[in-house]
Amino acid sequence: MKGIGASPGIAIGKVLIKKEPEIKIEKLAISDSGQEIQRLKEARETCKEQIKNLYDRTLKTMGKKEAQIFEAHGMILEDPEFFGQVEEKISNESFNAEYALKEVTDTFVELFKNMDNEYMRERAADIKDVTTRVTRILLGIESTDFSSLDEEIIIIAEDLTPSDTAQMDKEKVLGFITEIGGKTAHSAIMARTLEIPAVVGVEDITELANNGDYIVFDGDEGTVVLNPEDDVIEEYKNKQAEYIKLKNRLNELKGEKSITKDGVEVELVANIGTPRDVKGVIKNDGEGVGLYRTEFLYMDRDRLPTEEEQFEAYKKVAEKLKDKPIVIRTLDIGGDKELSYLDLPKEMNPFLGYRAIRLCLDRTDIFKTQLRALLRASAYGNIKIMFPMISSIEEVRQAKAVLEEIKEDLRKENIKFNEEIEVGIMVEIPAVAVMSDLFAKEVDFFSIGTNDLIQYTTAVDRGNRKISYLYNQFHPALLRLVKMVIDNGHKEGIWVGMCGEVAGDPKLIPILIGLGLDEFSMSPISILKSRWIIKNLSKKEMEEMAEKVINLPTAEDVEKFIDENIDIEI
Ligand code: PEP
Ligand code: MG
Repeated sequence: MKGIGASPGIAIGKVLIKKEPEIKIEKLAISDSGQEIQRLKEARETCKEQIKNLYDRTLKTMGKKEAQIFEAHGMILEDPEFFGQVEEKISNESFNAEYALKEVTDTFVELFKNMDNEYMRERAADIKDVTTRVTRILLGIESTDFSSLDEEIIIIAEDLTPSDTAQMDKEKVLGFITEIGGKTAHSAIMARTLEIPAVVGVEDITELANNGDYIVFDGDEGTVVLNPEDDVIEEYKNKQAEYIKLKNRLNELKGEKSITKDGVEVELVANIGTPRDVKGVIKNDGEGVGLYRTEFLYMDRDRLPTEEEQFEAYKKVAEKLKDKPIVIRTLDIGGDKELSYLDLPKEMNPFLGYRAIRLCLDRTDIFKTQLRALLRASAYGNIKIMFPMISSIEEVRQAKAVLEEIKEDLRKENIKFNEEIEVGIMVEIPAVAVMSDLFAKEVDFFSIGTNDLIQYTTAVDRGNRKISYLYNQFHPALLRLVKMVIDNGHKEGIWVGMCGEVAGDPKLIPILIGLGLDEFSMSPISILKSRWIIKNLSKKEMEEMAEKVINLPTAEDVEKFIDENIDIEI
């Protein structure tokens, strides 16, 4: 079988299929309420054990703060007021335990959700979490919890959300395979950040594989073999050993500069989604962060993060990276990243819809909270602000005006921030690339977002498997736009980076060097390999190569030219 290699590494192991069965609660009339109450008590006991395990694990792997949530969940399970009401419903109205639990949960959640106090609103989500867990136990529904696994497995799923990926226990999850998704889907990006091998876009894999099957795959090439013969296992074991050897060799490049043979130095920085990812940046010797996708702070919760929560997250990254540059992107929600609690209407074309800067300029309350947190954190490190999904000069000016307003507020309140903070934009919509000469006069830097720039330039949905053959980073139109953006940026004296996945593409790095890109931002896992490639190139030679490449007519010609003329083998 073949899919799309989404995160490098070889995985060999047992299959665990992720299926989330729907919870259907029926209203039943029961005859023995005593027995029903006992059934509920036993389910609570089982749930208590599960939560205790989750607490212990999280405490060990992440820390006290992260584990606290499970302490709160444990307390809800013990709450006599809440469960007293459930038991009353069982005895007085002869409801089955599941239904009585649902009724009381709904009442409590409704009550808490409408409270002014944010702490109480949060409790509504916790109650829902806990009672869903108890209901699953009552109904005998097994759920897959990736954060507490007993054995090493390879996860197979139709699709995985970024939060599924984020929760994965790196010790136990050897890799994952999904049916849906392309290389730039956010679950794939997270897998690379967590350094978990992954293949996406493998048709019907959830039908073909069963729990307990044996499977091997190559997260680079995208090859998957289900229940392989011994010789295939042997072959993959050898590949795995080779991969580890290569990683060791690359580790020797830690501490070295990212500089071409003819002395041109570039910046090799990392893309991150949460403060936790900084560990991977440091481990892989990233020279900073070129893209901090802040939307993950807003996801997996039931309300917006407060200014304080955001400030803490940004400050943590800034402090850990000391004076290294950190480009923090303002909220880029929409597309394949949803925020359920904002109740945004479903759109026909979410990638072309109400998202990112469009939403922020409309919901300035959300935007201002984030900008305040960002500015305050800028006092603790080398933070730069970047606006996503810009499509017009007006948007840049409006966003900057809001930023100025917040700066003024902070000055009045005597709160310190970096007065010199750099402000840049993502170049991910062709309109901006085409007008980059004018945009360059408005900002301090550009960062080219090729993930979206490819999809908008070629009108190819980046997550649609059926047309993934059209989503091609070698498309000459993309390279021409990239050249235009770099040249226009340099003419105005601003630096130009790239934070889409192309920045870490081994075949395209030489061309990007030739085109004069200043900063390359990629999954931490790609940094050392990219450094190796750059150290073995001469900028002067690459300029000639780039000149030729952008005049080729097809993506196939571009890739072939690179394969035949540039040696990037390690
Ligand atoms: C991009 O579009 O290239 C990018 C880096 O942003 P995201 O992948 O988060 O859309
Ligand atoms: Mg984008």
